[in-house]
Amino acid sequence: MKFLIVSLASLILPLMLFAAQVAEQKVIILLGPPASGKGTQASRLAADYKIPHISTGDLFRENIQKNTELGQKAKAFMDKGQLVPDSLVLDMLYDRIAKMDCEKGFVLDGFPRTIPQAEAFDKKLKANQKVIVLNLDVKDETLIKRTAGRLSCKNCGHIQNTYFSPPKKEGVCDKCGGPLIQRPDDREDVVRERLKVYHNQTEPLIGYYSKQGKLISIDGEQNPDQVFKALKAAIQ
Ligand SMILES: [Zn+2]
Repeated sequence: MKFLIVSLASLILPLMLFAAQVAEQKVIILLGPPASGKGTQASRLAADYKIPHISTGDLFRENIQKNTELGQKAKAFMDKGQLVPDSLVLDMLYDRIAKMDCEKGFVLDGFPRTIPQAEAFDKKLKANQKVIVLNLDVKDETLIKRTAGRLSCKNCGHIQNTYFSPPKKEGVCDKCGGPLIQRPDDREDVVRERLKVYHNQTEPLIGYYSKQGKLISIDGEQNPDQVFKALKAAIQ
């Protein structure tokens, strides 16, 4: 009997180790400035690889909506108008990626946002997790045109853009004739401020991941289908 247990263990143990080594988990991190299209591309990639698209914004909303312990903590900070601390963001993230649907991998959108977040995430990485960092490279002037030029119809929600899809008649929706308005968030000074924060806090991640040999930059000025193709080619 003893012999049988020993031989079983000697058979199963290497098999388990083997399985742990083979089951690679794709960790796809999408970097890019606001309005670079990374949210859209992240969800396309996730759908294509049949892995979850995890955005930190959605994580906050989900945890708060379900009134989880982490959600309650996050809400307390947000209600006070304070930033949710890194430790809490990381807890929510680890909680999410421990779920079964992340077994094969996941796409991260909006995380990491800073070097300390990236360092904390690196410390927790497991041997089977393969990190691929894709950076969408878009010029500031293009980002400003995409956002500050955006107009939405007050009646039907149709989106037009002063630069890329100008209305036939100024201030009037092409679809329904309703009034086109600019969202306060899209005002040029607000957009420039967001870009400044991005350049200061998030852009240093490009150098960080580049040094690790994990970064691939993609020309984000191309049309969305071309960007998607380039991203897929980079992952392969
Ligand atoms: Zn309209």
